[in-house]
Amino acid sequence: MNFKELGLSDDLIDSISYMGFEKATPIQEQAIPKILDRKDLIACAQTGTGKTAAFILPIINKLSQKEASNDSINTVVICPTRELAIQIDQQINGFTYFTSISSIAIYGGGDGDDWEEQKKALTSGVDIVVTTPGKFIAHLNMGYMNLKNIEHVILDEADRMLDIGFHDDILRIFSYFPKDRQTLMFSATMPNKIRDLAKEILNEPDEISIAISKPAEGVMQIAYLCYDPLKTKFIKRLIDGKESCKSIIIFTSTKKQVGEVVRELRNKDYLVLGISSDLDQSQREDVLIKFRAKQCRVLVATDVMSRGIDIKDINLVINYNVPNDAEDYVHRIGRTARADTTGIAVTLLNEEEQYKFLRIERLIEKEVLKSPVPTEIGESPTWNPNASNKRPSNKNRGKSKRYKGKRS
Ligand code: AMP
Repeated sequence: MNFKELGLSDDLIDSISYMGFEKATPIQEQAIPKILDRKDLIACAQTGTGKTAAFILPIINKLSQKEASNDSINTVVICPTRELAIQIDQQINGFTYFTSISSIAIYGGGDGDDWEEQKKALTSGVDIVVTTPGKFIAHLNMGYMNLKNIEHVILDEADRMLDIGFHDDILRIFSYFPKDRQTLMFSATMPNKIRDLAKEILNEPDEISIAISKPAEGVMQIAYLCYDPLKTKFIKRLIDGKESCKSIIIFTSTKKQVGEVVRELRNKDYLVLGISSDLDQSQREDVLIKFRAKQCRVLVATDVMSRGIDIKDINLVINYNVPNDAEDYVHRIGRTARADTTGIAVTLLNEEEQYKFLRIERLIEKEVLKSPVPTEIGESPTWNPNASNKRPSNKNRGKSKRYKGKRS
């Protein structure tokens, strides 16, 4: 379906084509008419499905048809991380470039200047605020925000926010919003705690579900049986000489491993950068800018990066180890093959990680092809996931081892 058929205005359709979108994705087809119709919505959709545009386009459509208000906020988008807040705000900027609709991303980690700019936007009025819960509460506590004209509130990645422990903060924020608002909730999974939250903040919502916890069709998945000490050697072998792989992300489960893998690959003359919560906000942004600009071919990251971060054209995702949370696997490999493209996701499995991987296969309802590493890399463990569930830890096997300003 094209965007005109969904009831969006001609001006907005021009901006959508500037962004390179031709056809609506399934979540956009289902969500946009309902949001335009002022329905509350609970949508189960993972990142990579086009969910950001699904909620932001109808809101922009509505905003473009109304007068700007002087000192208030119209829409609040609440999301779990600063990276996601920046990315959502960037998409809003793209769609509103030729309009006077204003937006700002508000997140922690900045300096005093950031706070003053945020305060100025929040007090003088801004159409769309994209924020993380903690920072929004910090501003709420100062008492200078006019929230009485809020018409739309969106919770993005709601399951992730509850995992992080934002439940009480979210309810507190919602206690400040007008009752007659429209509320949209997006979540990659629908556990009971999400349904319970929905009962508290949504009003007779319509429900949309787009394939839960399944990787995009275009991702080719493969798992290699590989002892930990051989993993970097094998990664080097995987990426050596593959010039067409211009953007590669390697996910590790801990910050410590990010540093280790970066060091090992750098030793081997790779242009590699690492990103984890050890870096401060400006360092993280700097790394992402370099990676997006393809000044760095390999990015080593913790799961902070796996959700929602949109970097185009990632050809290869490597799971250095299996994530603890099976949902994180889907998010990690969702960094490749975004919106109709193809990509490869490689997972490295030592002995102890096999049972976790079996659980992931059950979740995605797919058996992933498994292979030993080439013999010249070294010995491989055998695939025996049930044993790995019982086996004590044995790590050492293996031979070698934008506020644009107020609308006027
Ligand atoms: P999201 O699920 O919001 O993280 O979006 C995933 C990616 O798909 C982003 O790069 C969007 O720019 C892109 N995208 C969203 N909607 C469309 C569309 N209708 N056509 C092409 N790409 C899209």
